[in-house]
Amino acid sequence: MSLSRCPRCGELFARERYEVCAKCRNEENERLDLIKRYIDSHSDASVEEMSKISGLEPDEILHYVRKGRLLAEEFTALEITCEECGQKIVTGRFCKQCRERLAKAFSKILSRIKFDKNK
Ligand SMILES: [Zn+2]
Ligand SMILES: [Zn+2]
Repeated sequence: MSLSRCPRCGELFARERYEVCAKCRNEENERLDLIKRYIDSHSDASVEEMSKISGLEPDEILHYVRKGRLLAEEFTALEITCEECGQKIVTGRFCKQCRERLAKAFSKILSRIKFDKNK
């Protein structure tokens, strides 16, 4: 078990599956719950509103959306876009087409590396 420093509060904690310590994780979950509950009655809430009610920075909220902790399809005002083509997506970094294209390109590179090694 390795100790690492929590990026949010700076405490040392035993890093297993999570990026942040248990205390911050609880806080995070509570804040995400606040947002989810708010969205239930305000599906057109803006990121700024969500930031205000949860105390999370707008960037952090987008970060959670990209990680799939919050889904952009649940609230209409929030848009994240594919980093490749700019198309609207609901989670992650890329749209489905770009993900498939990138995966293909990546496996091509990998097979080329293997091929080079065999020479
Ligand atoms: Zn922490
Ligand atoms: Zn795309």
